[in-house]
Amino acid sequence: MIDFSTTLLQWRKLHGRTGLPWQNQKDPYKVWLSEIMLQQTQVATVKERYIEFIQVFPTVQDLAQASQDQVMALWAGLGYYTRARNLHACAKRIEGQFAGKFPESSAILVTLPGIGMSTAAAIASFCFGERISILDANVKRLLARFLGVEDDVKKASVHQDLWKKAQIFVPQKAEDMPAYTQALMDFGATVCTPKNPKCSNCVFQPSCHAFTESKVSMIPLQVKKVKNKIVQSEMLFILANHQVLFELRPAKGIWGGLWSLPESSWVDAMKVPGEPLHHSIQEFLGLPSDLLELPYKTAKLLAPRKHVFTHRTLYFQIRIIKLTEKFDLNSDQYQWVNISDCEHIGLPTPIRQWINDYLSS
Ligand code: SF4
Repeated sequence: MIDFSTTLLQWRKLHGRTGLPWQNQKDPYKVWLSEIMLQQTQVATVKERYIEFIQVFPTVQDLAQASQDQVMALWAGLGYYTRARNLHACAKRIEGQFAGKFPESSAILVTLPGIGMSTAAAIASFCFGERISILDANVKRLLARFLGVEDDVKKASVHQDLWKKAQIFVPQKAEDMPAYTQALMDFGATVCTPKNPKCSNCVFQPSCHAFTESKVSMIPLQVKKVKNKIVQSEMLFILANHQVLFELRPAKGIWGGLWSLPESSWVDAMKVPGEPLHHSIQEFLGLPSDLLELPYKTAKLLAPRKHVFTHRTLYFQIRIIKLTEKFDLNSDQYQWVNISDCEHIGLPTPIRQWINDYLSS
């Protein structure tokens, strides 16, 4: 049987990736940040945004002391906003509970907000030499193919089993852990890739179960994707003396914790084709009608804009409402923001783009 870790470490010396800004890091803050950013975002995007984030918040203390709005604004465009809220909550825990120092053990790291087992293992192995394997999607794919795991790797029982097997492969020496963890990441990203893996040049080829059994294209098992749902919503761009009314989105769900335009609920687009979803702003926000510059009905609904998420497509239509003066909604859920300051609050990308287009039109 091939010596998995030695083979991988030798491969990395010759073929591992270089030039990623978070590589060769011993600073747990930077490892943690890159791991969280890379969870659902492409490497090319993370490269740029990681540097930007570190410039604004160079340490975990800086992040802990920031406001949630500052963090959300900096995260805007990266998507999956729960990551940003957890990042902030985790920084505060590290500051408050651990005197600003990251715990060194993966068993403690995993108890912190937003840190899963693989991220905890990455921090502990890169920064503190803990002999623990990561098990992100790349590593699961590599191990499933190498070991011939034909069941769905997303199943909890299969995942647990892969964890145990991954542990068997870690190097004996703690000082090899940073290079080994990086090698696992590099190999999954560049050789044992989801499509067209480079089996002909692969150092594991003679021992790889999927290769020797001609099952590479079948492992890992592809479970049918959820059908994309089409939804629509109407949004209100309410302007009063160059101030725009924003509503805070619920912490959980799409665009969670970001500011956005007041909107109707998102309904199945096939159910109400082309129908306006709000019949009046008064009905929606309880607004006194004497503040309207023009009757509500004359506020035209603009052409729909499309935004595609992972499992749904949103068509949103904006209605511009001009008021003679601001009104107070007496709630932390709403705020008026000067139109020139919109770029400083955390907004969903399509809303930010629409506002930029509006300002430049
Ligand atoms: Fe992956 Fe192919 Fe190498 Fe097997 S032989 S580990 S499937 S790249």
